[in-house]
Amino acid sequence: MEDRPDLPWYRRLHWQVLIAMLLGAVVGFVFGAPAADRVGWIGDLFMRLLRMIIVPLVLTSIISGVASVGGGRALGRLFSKTLGYYLLSSLLATMVALFMVNLIRPGIGANMTDTTQAELPTLETPSSPVELLLDVVPDNVFQAAASADMLALIFFSIVFGIAITTLPGKSQTVVTELFDALFEVMMRLTSGIIRFLPIGVFALITRMVGTTGFDAFRPLALYALTIFSGLTVHLFVTLPLLLIVLGRISPRIHFGNMRDPMLIAFSTSSSGATLPVSLQTVEHKVGVSNQVASFVLPMGATVNMDGTAIFECAGALFIAQALGFDLTIAQQAIVVLTALLASIGAAAVPSAGLVVIFIVLEAIGLTGPDVNVIVGSMLAIDRPLDMYRTVVNIFSDSCGAAIIARSEGETDVDTSIR
Ligand code: ASP
Repeated sequence: MEDRPDLPWYRRLHWQVLIAMLLGAVVGFVFGAPAADRVGWIGDLFMRLLRMIIVPLVLTSIISGVASVGGGRALGRLFSKTLGYYLLSSLLATMVALFMVNLIRPGIGANMTDTTQAELPTLETPSSPVELLLDVVPDNVFQAAASADMLALIFFSIVFGIAITTLPGKSQTVVTELFDALFEVMMRLTSGIIRFLPIGVFALITRMVGTTGFDAFRPLALYALTIFSGLTVHLFVTLPLLLIVLGRISPRIHFGNMRDPMLIAFSTSSSGATLPVSLQTVEHKVGVSNQVASFVLPMGATVNMDGTAIFECAGALFIAQALGFDLTIAQQAIVVLTALLASIGAAAVPSAGLVVIFIVLEAIGLTGPDVNVIVGSMLAIDRPLDMYRTVVNIFSDSCGAAIIARSEGETDVDTSIR
């Protein structure tokens, strides 16, 4: 990435993105909907460019990662460490959410069910938890790639990578080198697209503020505050603690190195769209080896969503409170578990979290028109919350990559802000 420390500040990517965001907010606020219409297409174009590279990037990155780790023990160890970290961080996230909901009690006394049904958006009903597990194995790999079905693609890439490691000598070298080279190509493409990042971000923010204005932030204040505090505690307390305790890594340095992907996650609301930049940054700035980064991050972008887990848990409990239900500890435990599952199943795209909240709600028997009304109003203010939870989602992945790299004996991880 051409973001060298010797560049003047105004040529450094994170400053350019930050300025683009501010400009976008001002232009969107001052000129409103007409500005949103004018520049909206640029935002769409930028998102398309990012989405264009996700499928080949995930395929080549995981296949080359798994093939270079080699099969057997080393891969098994990396895999269990990765899953262990994901589980731990997501579980801690839901605990934080549980604590915040019980502290702020945002739904108590909220009278929200007199909105008319007609105003409601249509939300897709997600598949059940069992289907979610079955979905991991694709019926047809090409179809999975065409519909960007990430869990299925990850599964295929892992088994494909493992198969490569069982090939005899020369064939193994040839195929491994081929996928390494293809991965390099995808990283080059990523660098090219990132050059347009400030323009893309400007357009996306202008459209967001120009269409909804800042009013979107006002209603449902207590609910938003609960999610916001949960995300903040997890981002600035829990994850830094994990960095210190498990990885002996300075959170200050890790935050410093991760600023570009965090800004991108904030402006795109999509872990998937942020993945290319996360991969570059975690390798080149955080200093994690390609082996670990290309294994941990693509899977993390899809599976490990701490911010989304906080949202699912706090959001479902908020709805229960707003409808006057006092959930027992056992019911709250079900919410925690299904919130974890829902965060795994949520796609790495904007608003995915809100769609899968129905999984959590159904698990505790909350269905019906009143529930839909409340979810509908949550949708109205979801964008800013989605932006923030996406930041938490990708930050947790990078913490995992850094911690795992350290545990594998890598010494170059987060030694300084680069
Ligand atoms: N937008 C989030 C992400 O891509 C998912 C969500 O809606 O919670 O990480």
